[in-house]
Amino acid sequence: MTDKPRILVVDDELGPRESLRMVFKPYYEVAMVESGAAALEALPTFRPDVVFIDIKMPAMDGLEVLRQIKAHDPSVEVVMITAYASLETVRSALTNGAFEYLIKPFSRHDLERTARRALARRQMEVGARGQVARLVEQMRGLAAKTRELEEAARREAAEQSLRVTQLSILREISGGILSQLDLGPMTETITESLKAGLGYDEVSIHLGADPPAAADTATCVVCPIREDETILGHLVADNRPSACPIDPRERELLEMLSEYLAIAIRNSRLYGEIAETKRFLEQLIHSAGDAIVSVDREDRIVGWNPAAEEIFAATEGTMFGEPVTRILPAADYLRAKAALAAGRPAQHFEVRQRRPDGSRTELAVMLSAFGERGGEREGILAIVRDITTQRELEAQLLQSEKLTALGKLAGGIAHDFNNQLQAILGYAQLMARSPANTDLVRRGLEVIHTAATGGVETVKRIQQFARLRPDEEFIPVDLNAVIREAVAITRPRWDEVVGQRGIPTELRLDLAEIPPILGRPAALAEVVTNLILNAVEAMPSGGTLSITTRRQGPDRVAVVIADTGVGMSEEVRRRVFDPFFTTKGEAGTGLGLSISYSIVTRHGGEIRVASQEGKGTTFTLLFPVRAGAVPEPPPVTAGQPDRTGRILVIDNEPQVLGLLTEMLTAGGHRVTPAASGREALALFTPGCFDVVLTNIGMPGMTGWEVADRVRAADPHVPLAFITGWGLSADDRERCRARGIRQCLFKPVQPDDLLQAIQQVMVK
Ligand code: ADP
Ligand code: MG
Repeated sequence: MTDKPRILVVDDELGPRESLRMVFKPYYEVAMVESGAAALEALPTFRPDVVFIDIKMPAMDGLEVLRQIKAHDPSVEVVMITAYASLETVRSALTNGAFEYLIKPFSRHDLERTARRALARRQMEVGARGQVARLVEQMRGLAAKTRELEEAARREAAEQSLRVTQLSILREISGGILSQLDLGPMTETITESLKAGLGYDEVSIHLGADPPAAADTATCVVCPIREDETILGHLVADNRPSACPIDPRERELLEMLSEYLAIAIRNSRLYGEIAETKRFLEQLIHSAGDAIVSVDREDRIVGWNPAAEEIFAATEGTMFGEPVTRILPAADYLRAKAALAAGRPAQHFEVRQRRPDGSRTELAVMLSAFGERGGEREGILAIVRDITTQRELEAQLLQSEKLTALGKLAGGIAHDFNNQLQAILGYAQLMARSPANTDLVRRGLEVIHTAATGGVETVKRIQQFARLRPDEEFIPVDLNAVIREAVAITRPRWDEVVGQRGIPTELRLDLAEIPPILGRPAALAEVVTNLILNAVEAMPSGGTLSITTRRQGPDRVAVVIADTGVGMSEEVRRRVFDPFFTTKGEAGTGLGLSISYSIVTRHGGEIRVASQEGKGTTFTLLFPVRAGAVPEPPPVTAGQPDRTGRILVIDNEPQVLGLLTEMLTAGGHRVTPAASGREALALFTPGCFDVVLTNIGMPGMTGWEVADRVRAADPHVPLAFITGWGLSADDRERCRARGIRQCLFKPVQPDDLLQAIQQVMVK
């Protein structure tokens, strides 16, 4: 054992124990124990000069340890340490002979000083007992300090108790605010807690901007509840009945509460709005006419409204959790889903389905992603509308529109045909009456030929318009030549206007050198003819028609047809290309420009119109020049000897059958006529014929059936069709599929018929 003074530290906690050791170690011999019992045990062996004791320890507390140490040896100095000062303990420590009293936290300096002083006294005590006077002095100082401590502790305690009360009220109230989104119960919780906690006579919360009747006084606190600048209401604590003044620190608490209240009121309003919106949406979904089906990420149905029950004839109970592909075709659904996943907007598709009762439905399905959270889709919403009725109505409307169009078309055709038939009948009668008049007969034949050709053109035009006849092939076309031809075609009309009616009308041609375009000369001539005729009709009192061609940029040519006629209003101008639109009443068909439009667009061209009422109209046609891509002209068959062959001809119309037989016989063929499919099949044996030419539309057995039966008997015999009806795109596809080599349209000219038969035999 050294000569250093000895200090014993008694503390149940390691932290404080160690920190004291660190402070004392350099100067003193230090020992530590963690309980009172251990301390008493260490006394005889360690013989400490000073003992530092923590008051608060389990088992034996610091005061008891102090008492026992003093009983053992009153000269040992004892310093008490505690975290909080209680007057009672201070007093009892000092009366039990403690040297000092250290309250945590204390500085290292305090600690060292206290240790030094305690040691000094110990030495004094040990060395010169009886210095009682000094002791008395110190006792006095201590007494003063005790009084001071006593006062501070009292103040502290009062303050603490108020804070504690306030905090507990706040905690309770804010708990109530958080758990309540309904304003009524919430304000009740608050007012009740305030009354109970702080003993106010009356507490109330007034909602709305108007100030309450009570004024802010010493016995009544009125706190505005504010959100930014707006006043949401007032919190009133009223002690007027008991006239008990309200502590200013409580006012602070009430103000704090008012801030909470503002948040709570806003939350409850938001909650109300959300609840209202939710109710509204639920109602909407419930009463929607469209099926609204929500689907989770695993493609299972998780929502199903009454309209869905109706459309899919199943209740929500039976569908919940079922895969959505039970009601929507998997392929369509998955495709739409993939598109949504790729970030595309709502996807739409249509589905035809059969109801359990066997009736058909058509459904329009709209899929959209919903509830995107953190960039991830929550599920899919399918809105399904039953469009069966709508589709039926549309079909009916289309049908009736078609019928109206057909009626108009029929009117136009009747008009054209009547004129042509008039000429044919008239001359036929004249010729029958005077067959010997060769002049009349020649003229009559010419007129009949022209009128019939006109009829053919009318039908061809209508069939092409209705796309019942395939477009002829494109060949290089000189537009200037087309214009000259159109001028020649319209010459009679021109002569009539200028010559017979004496209307001064001038035609100016200004045709530049332009490269050929690819196209069909007849169709293009029809376009220019239409435009010239319209222009002439637009100049009832004369004017100038000018037709110009020019290059337009490097790869286009333009045809400009301008008149100085009546022009048209903006409203008319917008509709001129509509089929059947005419301002000419009975005299017009309204087809000229719509046919022209479709011809020009099929040539990859453009047609534009500019017009000024009273001044005139200019139509501009633009066509692409296809440099280098000029196809070979059609093979010239001339020079090769024509082949002749055995031909089976089938037509139910005796006149047509006779005519075809005659034309083919004149071409050197051996012809077997048959008046029906049945008759033809009876005549047909494989190898007997080089060509079978059959009409399509026949009663009993159609040309299609004849072709199929003949094909079944002989897979190689060349087949050709002739028809007075058109062929739709579908029909043309059927022809190709059956290997039908040609399809001729009635009326067919002898040359065309023979050429077609040549081609059928060569192939
Ligand atoms: P239609 O000549 O049988 O009436 P079109 O399709 O050829 O049918 O023309 C449609 C309408 O366009 C005409 O009725 C007329 O009102 C208007 N239209 C066409 N060309 C001209 C033009 N050069 N000047 C004024 N109006 C025109
Ligand atoms: Mg016209």
